[in-house]
Amino acid sequence: MPQNASGRKVLYVTLGCAKNEVDTDRMRALLNAAGFGETLDVDDADIAIVNTCSFLASATEESLEATLELAEGRAEGVRELPIVMCGCVPSRYGDELPEQLPEVAAFVKAEDEDDIVSVVSVVLGVEASAQGGGSALRTVEGASAFVKISEGCDRFCTFCAIPYIRGRYYSRSAEEICSEVEALLAGGVREIVLIGQDTGIWGSDLKGDETLAKLLTRVAEVVRPYDGWVRVLYLQPEGMTDELIAAIRDTPEVLPYIDIPIQHCSERVLSAMNRSGDPQQLHDLFRRLREEIPGMVLRTTGMAGFPGETDEEADELYDFIEAEEFDYTSVFAYSQEDGTAAAEMEGQVDEDTKLERTQRLIDLVEELGFSATAKHVGERTRVIIDGVEEGEGGVELIGHAWFQAPDCDGAVHIQSGEAAVGDVVTVDLVDSFCYEMVGKIVSEDEE
Ligand code: SF4
Repeated sequence: MPQNASGRKVLYVTLGCAKNEVDTDRMRALLNAAGFGETLDVDDADIAIVNTCSFLASATEESLEATLELAEGRAEGVRELPIVMCGCVPSRYGDELPEQLPEVAAFVKAEDEDDIVSVVSVVLGVEASAQGGGSALRTVEGASAFVKISEGCDRFCTFCAIPYIRGRYYSRSAEEICSEVEALLAGGVREIVLIGQDTGIWGSDLKGDETLAKLLTRVAEVVRPYDGWVRVLYLQPEGMTDELIAAIRDTPEVLPYIDIPIQHCSERVLSAMNRSGDPQQLHDLFRRLREEIPGMVLRTTGMAGFPGETDEEADELYDFIEAEEFDYTSVFAYSQEDGTAAAEMEGQVDEDTKLERTQRLIDLVEELGFSATAKHVGERTRVIIDGVEEGEGGVELIGHAWFQAPDCDGAVHIQSGEAAVGDVVTVDLVDSFCYEMVGKIVSEDEE
């Protein structure tokens, strides 16, 4: 007769983006509800769940390395640790994996992760003590939580494997999202970060007249009694409708932080990427946003070395980013991904040129980002406390302000004052370095 799951401890290893963190959270919550425990110590674990990323070839490699590193202990006889590989790598390479990775006990594609309890039970030969369920089921750590509002992507940008990994776009219902948000807030969360591959088109596949703007308004109503914040990431230029801009501008709980990954600005490159727009249209969009939402923070993403990108087109992107003075810009070197249209295109840019263009962009965006960060010195703002760290000046509290997306931008380092993880405190921002701010907690009588 199988033993009970109780006392069996799971080690979770999450690679990749915030969306994967959300998926790991959900699997953790399902397993917790089924009687499994958790450990951070590999030597104490009965099973390891590796939630993988396969967005780029380098991310796939990193995921495989993390898996093989765990498997090494077993090969060396140090420990007997079954490994379950989940997420994007099984979704992308599912059929080939069992033969290539005999070290892994089970593979779970992203769309099958809700079956994690039965997979883990079978691998360990135990019986789950209770069955968890429900869309709101999430473990809560800290005061910020990512909430997926959609899954998959229909855009098929020619460089991107996500639509093949994560499937077609579908929106979660507003009811499901709001109930998850409510549960997270009740559990102590104060910042809700709405994510998806393409958040701007949320609702277009649902019945009725659902839009992201309407969803933001509904989520804000849920957040209001808790005095919390809502942030939305991964908007696309085409998703920035007047209705959405107005919702961000007119809803106090929705942070004026706008993340629009443009990837490029050249009309020819964008078209080859199966994206639309040109420099003028993009400049017009950002000008409109700045006019409508004064003081907002802008984040974007730029890609260097897409196939066929000429020196002039690389300069065009550089000049565009310089002119727009984005607060934060992530820069990627184009990566030739198996199965994507761009991987087959002529005119692949050689690695040295790609790296040189990438580094040039990184130098630029750091200069812009550091100076955008420094502009917040002197502000008094609310900060969510995320943790405690050993800093240069001793132990310090680490938090983030409205203009810093968690796990993405810089942090606020607080060297004096007391607060607990999850507290929202008022802070005077007194200094900055790189993307980081230094702050002092304002006491109640100073407020
Ligand atoms: S919008 Fe483009 S880059 Fe983003 S996930 Fe979809 S296909 Fe990939």
